[in-house]
Order: sequence, then structure tokens, then C-alpha cells
Amino acid sequence: MDYRDSPAEAEFRTRLRAWLVENDPGLPASSTDDAYWERQAEWHTALYDAGFFGLSWPSRFGGHDLPTVFDVILDEELAAAGAPPRPSLGYLVQGISTHGSEAIQDRFLPGLISGKERWCQGFSEPDAGSDLAALRTRATRDGDDWVIDGHKIWTSYSDVADWCLLLARTDPDVPKHKGISAFAISMDQPRIEQRPLKMINGITKEFGQVTFDGARVPAANMIGEPGEGWRVAMTIVSHEREPGELGYVARYAKTVRSLERTLRENPDAYRADQREAVAWSFVQAEMLRLHVCRRLSERLDGIDHGPGGSIDKLLMTWVEQSVGAASLSVSGPGAATSTDDEALKIYLYARAQSVMGGTSQIQKNIIASRILGLPTA
Ligand SMILES: Cc1cc2nc3c(=O)[nH]c(=O)nc-3n(C[C@H](O)[C@H](O)[C@H](O)COP(=O)(O)OP(=O)(O)OC[C@H]3O[C@@H](n4cnc5c(N)ncnc54)[C@H](O)[C@@H]3O)c2cc1C
Repeated sequence: MDYRDSPAEAEFRTRLRAWLVENDPGLPASSTDDAYWERQAEWHTALYDAGFFGLSWPSRFGGHDLPTVFDVILDEELAAAGAPPRPSLGYLVQGISTHGSEAIQDRFLPGLISGKERWCQGFSEPDAGSDLAALRTRATRDGDDWVIDGHKIWTSYSDVADWCLLLARTDPDVPKHKGISAFAISMDQPRIEQRPLKMINGITKEFGQVTFDGARVPAANMIGEPGEGWRVAMTIVSHEREPGELGYVARYAKTVRSLERTLRENPDAYRADQREAVAWSFVQAEMLRLHVCRRLSERLDGIDHGPGGSIDKLLMTWVEQSVGAASLSVSGPGAATSTDDEALKIYLYARAQSVMGGTSQIQKNIIASRILGLPTA
């Protein structure tokens, strides 16, 4: 593998670097407060309008048809500039392009990629998270529409979403995985209610719970065929688990660089174990960056990682939690008592990484059964 830039990559890197100097939005280092989530859309649009978003997606939908290595360059330069990561919605793009009809792709991908239409993902329910196939939200056919009744929870961006990629049970009489369908449902209707949920670190803008009480979605907005919802979900979650798709590497690197700066400014003020925590998180973040480079370059060769996304998700969780632990260690007990509690917020947010997109236990189950071929109970 050759890590050096080709002339086209080098030109892109230089152009991007110059743009970032002028356009750093000054968002917090991590998703530690509401300001980060409130201004995410603005950052998305700025990147897109400048031609730096959707790099590897089809130009037909507003992308740039570039090899995925350009996403790696984008992540690297965002990290180096201390800018926020690119918005993570590749998994929805993959889900809609893999399973949606041409009409669905033409209608929804341009708005999703440009950020002109915002989306949320309505999968989890109060009693169907890890056991997603147990979901109970119902879709009942009524003329040209489906009528939706049910309750989704932990729905990221539900407060600002125009559209929801919703899983609902369309056939209760078949085995549970087979009776689910996927829809693009408009969130702008009176029979959908969204209520925010407060996270442990105080954020109120990241996710909410959503109730559907006779909400309507045109039959033409089904993504895939009736009963194809489980396959749509598996495509989406397998990509949701890939750090390369998410661009989080830049977020971790930004925090690690700031910790490193703090230590270097006054090295004697810190104990050996604090320095070691930062060094370890540096090594882990760098390991993840190189792993993502390798994954993306394998993708260029047409290699599909399938359940390997679960390994990536575990790695990403370990890195985020190492970075969170280092952040808390460097701040010391003051993190819990001072008003400037960013380190504590970074630490607490890192705990969510082992839950969102499928818990670490579920990833280990997938690795055991689908990669190692171990027997299931
Ligand atoms: C920040 C954040 C954002 C999220 N965003 C979204 C979103 O946009 N859309 C969406 O639909 N969902 C979202 N989620 C929900 C997330 O997908 C679920 O929380 C997750 O799948 C776990 O489901 P659960 O919370 O119901 O926990 P449960 O499934 O009830 O799990 C509870 C515990 O039991 C363990 N467990 C459960 N089953 C097994 C098993 N078979 N083997 C071993 N251990 C098991 C789990 O690992 C966990 O420790 C988000 C979650 C977070 C934290």
C-alpha cells in the first residue's frame, strides 16, 4: 500500500487546507454540548457547497465520483485543522442506494447528500434495540398509503429531521425478520410527535423519542420491496459500524492533539500515568486512522468487509473510550466540579459509543458467530 498522495490527491489536499483556514466554524472539539449539534447542519452545507462533501458518492446525486481515498484526505485535513468531522450519513446513503428504486434514489439522495433535507433513523424501540427484529411499530395499508402506529426511541436528530428512514412491521403473520419493511416518511405531519431526551452529559439536541399515531406515508416511499426491511437495516447498520463511513477519526484526533498540547505546555504538572493515558490515546487514534485507510483502500479493490464492520465498531469504541479516559485523567478531579466540565462531557459521551449502532456485546456475538464460526446458543 502506498500512502503518498498522487498529484490529484495532493492538489485536492492543498485546496482543502486553504479553504479550512478561512472556514473553520469554531465548533467544540467533541459532541459535548448542544452548540455542536445545533450547528452541524451549517457545517454540512458549508462543506458541501465548497465541494468537499460526498466525495466518493455518485455525481448524479450531488457527489463527486472520487475514490474513497479522498474521504481519508478530508478526515486527515479536518483533524489537522481542528475542524469538526464530516457529517456521518454514509450509512443512510448506502442503505438507500443499495435497496431503493431509481425513483427513490433520485428523489432522496440529492437532498440527503447536500444537507438540504435532514434525516433521522427510526429503528430502535423501547423493547427492540439489540433485538431489532422484535420491533412493534405497525404499518397498515390504506389505499395508496401506509398508516404508521408505534413508538421509536433514541432517534438521533429527530428534532430537526425532515425525513425518517423508518422500519415498521407490514406483515405480522410471517417470521419476525421477514415481516418488516422500510419507508422514507415525512416528519412534517401532525400525527408524528417528537420529544427530546437528555443525555448523561446534558445534551438535549442529539436524540429524542418519536411517536407515530396514524401517521401516513405514500406506498411509493417504501425503500425496497415489502418484507425487505430487515435487509435494508442490515446494510445500514453494517456501514454505520465502519469508522471510515463516519469520519470520527478526525474528532478523536482533534481531542488527542489538544490533550497533547496541554501536556507539552507544562509537562511537570502531570503525573506519569496521565502522560501515559494521553500517549496511549494518541497511539490508538493513529492505529484507527491507519486501519480506516486500509479498509477504504481495500474497498477500492472491491473488497466487501461484511461482518468485519463489527471489528471496526469495537476498535472505534475502544479508541473513543481511551480518548475519553485520557481527557478525564488530564483534567483530574476538577472535571467533575468545575464549570468548565468539557473533559467530563467527552468522557461521558464516549460511553455511548459502546451502545449506539449496536452494543459491544452484539458486535462480539457477530464476530463469534459470523467471522469465527463459533456455535450459537
Ligand atoms: C448516542 C446514541 C444514538 C443513537 N441513535 C439511534 C438512532 O438514530 N436510531 C435508532 O434507531 N437507534 C439509535 N440508538 C439506539 C441504539 O441502537 C440502541 O440503544 C442499541 O441498539 C441497544 O439497544 P437498547 O438500548 O434497547 O439496549 P438493549 O438491547 O436492551 O441492551 C441492554 C444490554 O443487554 C445487552 N444485550 C442485549 N442483547 C444481548 C445479546 N443477545 N447478547 C449479549 N448481550 C446482549 C446489550 O449489550 C446491553 O448491554 C442510539 C443510541 C445511542 C446511545
